[in-house]
Amino acid sequence: MKMKKKKRSNLCPCQSSLTYAKCCKQFHSGKAEADSPEALMRSRYSAYVKGEIDYLINTTDMNGPLWRNDRDEWFEELSLFSRETHFQGLEILDVSSHYVRFEATLEIDGNDASFIETSRFTEEGEKWFYHSAEFE
Ligand SMILES: [Zn+2]
Repeated sequence: MKMKKKKRSNLCPCQSSLTYAKCCKQFHSGKAEADSPEALMRSRYSAYVKGEIDYLINTTDMNGPLWRNDRDEWFEELSLFSRETHFQGLEILDVSSHYVRFEATLEIDGNDASFIETSRFTEEGEKWFYHSAEFE
């Protein structure tokens, strides 16, 4: 029996059930800005899946604890994590004005690396930034 090779899904990795082009890609490409903590959180998850490392760096709050001055080293680490990780799902658990609690389902080297995080976001001007994270 001949099996047709399935096309890679063009749905957005953030599981919005929109296509990537109509969802997080517009943020990654700079065509639009994520206009809420949830939109930014989702687009950052998608950025990990798609290897949009510059986007991850550029949406981190420079005044927060996660900002790193050695951009090259930071880029390398994010890039490695993005390549090594099998991203299996995202579930938004709770959203408030500056926080998003979510569960990310991940696998690294065949091991479950899933976690629940509450991300804090800050707003500067019209733009949202990822500030810090707490894990459960
Ligand atoms: Zn998306």
